[in-house]
Amino acid sequence: MFGIWGHNKAAEITYYGLHALQHRGQDGAGIAATDGKDLQVHKGVALVNDVFKHAEFKELTGHAAIGHVRYPTGGKDSIEEVQPFIFHAKSESVAIGHDGNIMNKAILRDELESQGSILQTSTDPEILAHLIRRNGQEVSEVSILQALKKMVGAYAFLILTEDKIYAALGARGIRPLSIGKLGDAYVISSETCAFDIVGATFVREINPGELVTISDEGIQSTRFTEPQKRALCSMEYVYLSRPDSDLNHVNVHASRKSMGIELAKEAPIEADVVTGVPDSSISAAIGYAEEMKLPYEIGIIKNRYIGRTFIQPTQELREQGVKMKLSPVRGIIEGKRVVMIDDSIVRGTTSRRIVKMLKDTGAKEVHVRIASPMITNPCYYGIDMSTRDELIAANHTLEEMRDMIGADSIAYLSPEGLERAIVRDDSLEQGLCKACMTGEYPVTLKDAGIKMNDQY
Ligand code: AMP
Ligand code: SF4
Repeated sequence: MFGIWGHNKAAEITYYGLHALQHRGQDGAGIAATDGKDLQVHKGVALVNDVFKHAEFKELTGHAAIGHVRYPTGGKDSIEEVQPFIFHAKSESVAIGHDGNIMNKAILRDELESQGSILQTSTDPEILAHLIRRNGQEVSEVSILQALKKMVGAYAFLILTEDKIYAALGARGIRPLSIGKLGDAYVISSETCAFDIVGATFVREINPGELVTISDEGIQSTRFTEPQKRALCSMEYVYLSRPDSDLNHVNVHASRKSMGIELAKEAPIEADVVTGVPDSSISAAIGYAEEMKLPYEIGIIKNRYIGRTFIQPTQELREQGVKMKLSPVRGIIEGKRVVMIDDSIVRGTTSRRIVKMLKDTGAKEVHVRIASPMITNPCYYGIDMSTRDELIAANHTLEEMRDMIGADSIAYLSPEGLERAIVRDDSLEQGLCKACMTGEYPVTLKDAGIKMNDQY
């Protein structure tokens, strides 16, 4: 997500910001902008470049805008699911973009419907819009704060009206959201890499439980919860974020390299060469090689023109995707004992394919080292790992996984190693969510008023 207030090229800058955030979602992109009188939106089910192929952002005039790239965790693959969503009521309009997952959405939806609201979708932004507008209230700091207090889960919201941008982060700060400045304009982004691209400077992260309001009067901050220890998604460091982003003042590349170093300390192996699965595992592979005093080599090449395989909807398409995406470098692999570093294993598809590919290319041995802990629990907070059934590590022993993946050995980083690689001190800001790896959920189903059900 990206937003800007106070710039005469707001939509254009948002377009560049979304470009930098494209890795966060490839299923759709949209920008909503305001000139103070109206809200306009343009969106499509495609990559940012294709949605704004004819520079459509030029028609989105005004001094403020928000933009969103869609990462699907549910719902249909259609334009109705692409954000920002626009809601109109009386003389007022509001555009909403959202990252994360509202866990108690079914309860809130029932509550709203029993009070007479008619919801068109069950998306988190629509529920937020209805909660804000409940009893005919206007969109204001007060009505937004009331609505946010009812929402349990992980969320980062950007809310644009004709005269303000609001940015809110859930009580534990599971998803990232930062504020920057571009001249006199304020910018907000999920990741700091987008600030660098538009020439903005980082100001600070939005705090857990904080609502920031930006308007012509400047910037204001209120809280809707007491400060709690942050539980920033550790998969942001492991896989999701770009290496040039900083989260909680920790650079993502540096943290990945440290994960590789910790992994080498915990699970060394005799080998000839270390290679990483591009792109997200390269930093960890460099760290592992450095600590082991082994050569780091580019043993696998990525075809840049194929999207992230994980995001394909079916297992069959995902498997096909891996084949098209990665190729071995024969001169590096043939006859060698190879350490293959991957950042994570979710369903096991990527590792199995790559080990086979390396062996087919003549690798003497392939040792798989995973630069994050085993993913054994579902994520309730907006990352697409929502059922235990799909997680290979939740259903198999390490030896079974080694066998299924076809590796000569396999080892994962421990949760303590991950913590050491990322966390710098014991301040409130430096807390991590590792729930999918440890089962310790910062926001529980019970907190959200729901019973364990088949969904999880
Ligand atoms: P899998 O093939 O299902 O085991 O998925 C693991 C691969 O997907 C790893 O190589 C990661 O780089 C990548 N990955 C891990 N987590 C995610 C995620 N939440 N969304 C998309 N890709 C991911
Ligand atoms: Fe991230 Fe895992 Fe926590 Fe989900 S459960 S927010 S993927 S660390």
